[in-house]
Amino acid sequence: MQPIQIAVVPVTPFEQNCSLLWCTRTMKGVVIDPGGDLDKIRSAIAETGITVDKILLTHGHVDHAAGAAELAETLGVKVEGPGEADQFIMDDIPATAARYGIPNARAVTPDRYLSEGETVSVGDLTLDILHVPGHTPGHLVFVHKGVGIAIVGDTLFRGSVGRTDFPYGDPDLLIAGIVGKLLPLGDTVVCLPGHGPVTSIGDEKTHNPFLPR
Ligand SMILES: [Zn+2]
Repeated sequence: MQPIQIAVVPVTPFEQNCSLLWCTRTMKGVVIDPGGDLDKIRSAIAETGITVDKILLTHGHVDHAAGAAELAETLGVKVEGPGEADQFIMDDIPATAARYGIPNARAVTPDRYLSEGETVSVGDLTLDILHVPGHTPGHLVFVHKGVGIAIVGDTLFRGSVGRTDFPYGDPDLLIAGIVGKLLPLGDTVVCLPGHGPVTSIGDEKTHNPFLPR
């Protein structure tokens, strides 16, 4: 059995699924998409007893990334991801947060941008990186193939797909990425989206009205 465990912490007024993912052998973990509500995230970290190794970002949107700079500073860890193409969105976080009434939001510049084909390690675990743009240009998906789990951010939801009605959104690119990169992961792969319930590739292949069949 793979030594992996995940806990989801809903954060921000957008109920974004921040997740803690850790290696149960080393108790080293990552915080994925700390959009805000850092007290809730810190409590969850304390409850699990993990040592946070780094912060990962799927994409640059305020509800996913606005707490990353402060959490990285206080934990003394680095921020990795998303793709460099999302930097302009992360630069704009304070202005966007003010519009939505999200407090304590900070712009963030990751220590390392990530690209498809690279991997990130967490204790004894290795996550593969897929680039699935369209919701944002630098959007990443983190996959653990051994366990069959994908942290899909705002690409694919249960019965839906990510918004593309931003000036930089591209619906065709998003669907092409889901069809070309996520569906081939296999029906049994569990998907943890940025919002809403967990789903699987098989369920979305069958039921998702936004995907061609
Ligand atoms: Zn988003």
